[in-house]
Amino acid sequence: MNYSCPECNNLNELLEEVSVGTFLDCPECGMTVMITEIDGNTANVKVVENDK
Ligand SMILES: [Zn+2]
Repeated sequence: MNYSCPECNNLNELLEEVSVGTFLDCPECGMTVMITEIDGNTANVKVVENDK
């Protein structure tokens, strides 16, 4: 399973089992995203807005 980061477009491989609603941190840019849909071997994600 993998997903592309909407922020930096890096293709990240997911080693753990994930499901819709799982939060992930992009290892490349640190952006937090949430999985919105799983399509075969690809997870679709959206950026999570977080206040600093
Ligand atoms: Zn990224």
